[in-house]
Amino acid sequence: RGLSKSYALNRSSLSVLRNLDLDVNGGEILAIVGPSGCGKTTLLRVLAGLESPDRGEVLIDGHPVAGVGRERAVIFQEPRLLPWLTVLENVAFGLEVRGVPAAQARERARHYIHLVGLTEFAEAWPRQLSGGMAQRVGIARALTVQPEILLLDEPFGALDAMTKLTMQEELARIWREEGVTMILVTHDLEEAIFLADRVLVLSRDNSDPARLIDVDLPRPRDRSEQGFVAMRR
Ligand code: ATP
Repeated sequence: RGLSKSYALNRSSLSVLRNLDLDVNGGEILAIVGPSGCGKTTLLRVLAGLESPDRGEVLIDGHPVAGVGRERAVIFQEPRLLPWLTVLENVAFGLEVRGVPAAQARERARHYIHLVGLTEFAEAWPRQLSGGMAQRVGIARALTVQPEILLLDEPFGALDAMTKLTMQEELARIWREEGVTMILVTHDLEEAIFLADRVLVLSRDNSDPARLIDVDLPRPRDRSEQGFVAMRR
């Protein structure tokens, strides 16, 4: 509600978010698009609680986020795995720091490693993974804390085109299975249209108000023939 955020820039101030109102529906995928520098990451960081807004507030179910114990997890472009921990240990880490006993944390971590298709790599080291696999570990790590809201900042931006398509489908499958609300920052309009129910378009100079677009397409979220035909129409 009424989110504003400016940064200091050369003795002046750069207004990045200006009085932004946004409602996100539980269980939907909302994509945030817009030109480089328009404030997509800033908005995501504010929603994640990693950055505080100058004005306005973030509410979940009508309550300021500080007061609710509901989990938000963030996925960045680079998963930044801890190199001295195995895949399993990386995924379990978030639970262990939250006080979950190690055995229980690892059991839950195995479940999410399986969900992202990396069962055979549970004991591998991060350096043994490809970029796509490392990002799958990042997704498993985020899901392990069972967030109700998943915030993704260009999660597939560093991946090659084919891996990206696979990962988009994986994310859609995870969304179907886990029913988690997702807010996705992307440069890729095709990705936004493929995955999102609605798209928030930010403009660089804030001269236009942010626009919200309903993706008026069937939501197959898979690339079956039917999905492709629908997108071409
Ligand atoms: P991109 O698509 O290139 O990642 P973006 O839309 O995510 O861009 P932001 O990263 O939110 O944009 O940045 C918006 C503006 O705010 C940019 O002009 C950037 O230089 C500025 N900015 C972001 N973070 C900071 C910071 N910590 N200090 C100062 N300025 C910042």
